[in-house]
Amino acid sequence: MKQVNEIKCTFLSLSQNESLARSIVSGFLLPLDPDVEELADLRCAVSEAVTNCIVHAYRKEVGKIQLTLRVYDNRTFRMIIADKGCGIPNVKEARKPLFTTLPDEDRCGMGFSIMESFSDKLDVKSQIGKGTRVTLTKKLSSGEDNT
Ligand code: ATP
Ligand code: MG
Repeated sequence: MKQVNEIKCTFLSLSQNESLARSIVSGFLLPLDPDVEELADLRCAVSEAVTNCIVHAYRKEVGKIQLTLRVYDNRTFRMIIADKGCGIPNVKEARKPLFTTLPDEDRCGMGFSIMESFSDKLDVKSQIGKGTRVTLTKKLSSGEDNT
């Protein structure tokens, strides 16, 4: 599997950067002629991951979020969302549907489940006090199917 394109960018954990992250994913994927539904799913997934950095990782502060997007020659797309925030004490528990540490703030604990459902593989690595890295991998459907 050979990498054919990559972009890395860093932005602050501000809510206006959720839409920026969605636009970056669209701009990166559009030349690959993605399926419309797949593109919508991946835009939603990046939003969930970035929102988590804003509301959980850097709860009472503003920190940096690094977004890395890569595509490989077999149309495998990978995105990595990394923060240097508070970290997750128990990743297995955090990934369960309906698990949230902020039930009073209109959170419903579905972010990781949504990301998982839109990916072929979702990897979450986290260290308390050091941060969290979410890696989503998805094989894009063939461009010819969309014409
Ligand atoms: P929803 O996404 O439905 O609004 P939620 O954000 O609580 O609710 P998930 O996105 O599934 O649900 O995340 C589950 C839990 O994992 C969060 O409540 C939070 O405790 C923890 N978490 C997720 N991402 C991070 C992160 N980047 N840093 C620290 N904690 C996180
Ligand atoms: Mg969430």
